[in-house]
Amino acid sequence: MITNEMGKFTMKKIAVIGGGIMGRGIAYAATVAGFQVHLHDLYPEALEKAKTYLETELRKSVHHGFIRPGEDEASLNRITFTTNMEEAAVEADLVIEAVLEKMEIKVDVFKKLDKICPSQTILATNTSTMSPTEIGAQTSRPERCIAMHFFNPVHKMKLIEIVRGLDTSDETFRIAKKAAEAMNKEVVEVNEFPGFVTSRMNCLIGNEAMNMLMEGVASAEDIDKAMKLGLNHPMGPLELADLVGLDTRLRNMEYLYQTLGEKYRPCPLLIKYVKAGRLGRKSGAGFYKYDKE
Ligand code: NAD
Repeated sequence: MITNEMGKFTMKKIAVIGGGIMGRGIAYAATVAGFQVHLHDLYPEALEKAKTYLETELRKSVHHGFIRPGEDEASLNRITFTTNMEEAAVEADLVIEAVLEKMEIKVDVFKKLDKICPSQTILATNTSTMSPTEIGAQTSRPERCIAMHFFNPVHKMKLIEIVRGLDTSDETFRIAKKAAEAMNKEVVEVNEFPGFVTSRMNCLIGNEAMNMLMEGVASAEDIDKAMKLGLNHPMGPLELADLVGLDTRLRNMEYLYQTLGEKYRPCPLLIKYVKAGRLGRKSGAGFYKYDKE
């Protein structure tokens, strides 16, 4: 539970909207931190998949000694899974949206949340690139809207970029930061600009790697190996893009291209892969082949 400095705001309940790769990971971080979590997705299959993922990851966390025996079950019991957004969000102190990277979908979700949630509830987006100002402006509470950009896989990655929109209040920033710290994350504060710090940099590296692969400069394996062993990146840019999801990466590139210009033009190979349904790990094939999730 988080109490703010004036003691007026307590945070017990977090709703997560979207139960895909990121939503399920955020639900993991929030429940392990002791929050009550309501995970919402439009599709029951997505929630089923998220539940199986959470069971597996929580079990592994006990096995590796990250959490105590019994905490896996307690953490799972703190999560409810629902296809009803109102049920998920009506009592939440913080809502974290992790739906598809499409502005119109995010705006639609925020407008609905604005109607459902009490006026003090903070609405955060986990967008990797987009404007929390634009999303928050569609609500009656832009001062309580913010971006909390988690990283994949959430249970392993330490960082959250917290991005203030134009009207985000200092109090909202402070509460978002406290929530992030309660989830055992480190925070960087970013003033809004497309792609923030990480996606702006990382999308460019990934796109260049795809261009090199398309031009026949080297194989996918050798491009990734070069970046790992030569430049000390923990993952190669192509395996990282597969982990993110090539559909999500393409949406990120399209947004950055639209807002930051030519150097972010999505690589034609990325477009071709997405058209073919090669979406990375989640579909079983991207730049590499995988067992389907
Ligand atoms: P995903 O495709 O794995 O999951 C999105 C989920 O949202 C799906 O389960 C879908 O059914 C659900 N959904 C779609 N519309 C919805 C709605 N209106 N209401 C409720 N649920 C809805 O996508 P993801 O990779 O989890 O990405 C989600 C967000 O997180 C995007 O904004 C993305 O840019 C951002 N992000 C992704 C990564 C990554 O590595 N994948 C990292 C950081 C941030």
